[in-house]
Amino acid sequence: MDFCPKCGKLLQTEKDKKGNTVVICYKCGYKRQLEEDENVTLTEEIKHDMVKEMTVVFDKTEIDTTKPVKEMYCPKCEQNQKISFWMIQTRSADESPTRFFRCTACDETWREYD
Ligand SMILES: [Zn+2]
Ligand SMILES: [Zn+2]
Repeated sequence: MDFCPKCGKLLQTEKDKKGNTVVICYKCGYKRQLEEDENVTLTEEIKHDMVKEMTVVFDKTEIDTTKPVKEMYCPKCEQNQKISFWMIQTRSADESPTRFFRCTACDETWREYD
């Protein structure tokens, strides 16, 4: 059970077109993917797949302008661009979260490897 951080309405769980579970606010349109830590413990292999899947999902998502942006090298543009970045806890809570980057110029999205 979760409430919308924007308007405080109860969020509904729904499958999107790609079969991913999302929580959605019918009032203001707020939407996010269900986080994996809201569920069961997963095997390493499944976690790995989910990370890949998440990367694909984010690729299709509109650039979220609320995310912080910094100047850094984009491997696709092969030059410095404004890159938005965010952290996701992909594994157990005692491991550091994975950082994702997206180039605001070409939409290339990648994750930071250790
Ligand atoms: Zn809302
Ligand atoms: Zn780029």
